[in-house]
Amino acid sequence: MNIGRLQRKSVKNLAAYDPGLLVDYKYKLDANENGFDITPKARKKILREISAVHFNRYPDPATGDIRAALAKKNGVKPENVVIGNGSDELIHYLIQAFTDQGDKIVFPSPTFEMYRILAMANGAEPVAVGLDERFDIYEKELLKKSRGAGIIFLAYPNNPTGNCFSREKMEYVIRNAGCLVVVDEAYFEFSKKTFINLMRGRNNLVILRTFSKAFSMAGARLGYMLAHRDVTEIINKVRLPYNVNALSQACARVMLKEKSAAVETILAEREIIYDLLKDDYPVIKSDANFLLIKVKDGAKARKLFEKSGISIRIFRDGALKDFLRLTIGMPEENRAALKIMRRGV
Ligand code: PMP
Repeated sequence: MNIGRLQRKSVKNLAAYDPGLLVDYKYKLDANENGFDITPKARKKILREISAVHFNRYPDPATGDIRAALAKKNGVKPENVVIGNGSDELIHYLIQAFTDQGDKIVFPSPTFEMYRILAMANGAEPVAVGLDERFDIYEKELLKKSRGAGIIFLAYPNNPTGNCFSREKMEYVIRNAGCLVVVDEAYFEFSKKTFINLMRGRNNLVILRTFSKAFSMAGARLGYMLAHRDVTEIINKVRLPYNVNALSQACARVMLKEKSAAVETILAEREIIYDLLKDDYPVIKSDANFLLIKVKDGAKARKLFEKSGISIRIFRDGALKDFLRLTIGMPEENRAALKIMRRGV
């Protein structure tokens, strides 16, 4: 049987996600993770918490205590919080719950690829609006394209460009949009900028956060959504009952009481690297834990980085051809990457 013929049309046009990572690497600076793992103390607490898990039972489907803690931390009510298996899962639920087949999902481009991929996977129509030469949004164009759309996604700071879009333009979109506006604040602990304050009196603004970056928890898959009850009630209709497993919930319980890891060190490193590179390469000022750098020869850069066992993200085509995205890692990792950049690529 030709199984390919049976798949949803929009899935036919979709390729499986390929993060394009180097398999054999010494240093991993390709996925905007935190180079600093959790502290030994936090690890011990997690192990203790996990040893009390009832493996024979389904996890708490309501994730009540975790939502309560996140609500308190962010000045909202537990009913305004949904936890996900990474924020990726929450993006999926938002699209699943708020778009029908063929509905438009609008986002700037370039941006986080999952908006397009999950739009297509769900049969929605991804609509990309290019960024300007300063990698800022065209707010009027975004609004125009969002007429009749289901969702606008705005990553703030944006990935892979690293910058926060202008606050006024963001506010213009949030205040005037006739659909759901999702502000993805995955890198919030680095930018320290948020649109939470605009949630009051507005039920179409959704904020996404994650433990994957500043909290060094990419492996535990923990993301969360802050939104009006009108939205969270709808999301809970499509959310799988046990979407966050008991082990991840144990991690969340501990990490909620921990400080985000090494944020100030990473920010200081980012500024040092920016200053060292900015005279030789176009580098974009970043509000996140990574830098987007334009090189002359992406293929040469790829070869050099690969030879040195450093995995970074190098874009091959489109608007970002010959740009590389360098995650700010630990000082030793950053020095190794700088050494290559200094050779000229
Ligand atoms: N949003 C943005 C903007 C991201 O860069 C990422 C991770 N690369 C995510 C969401 C997904 O994070 P998570 O690990 O929580 O699924």
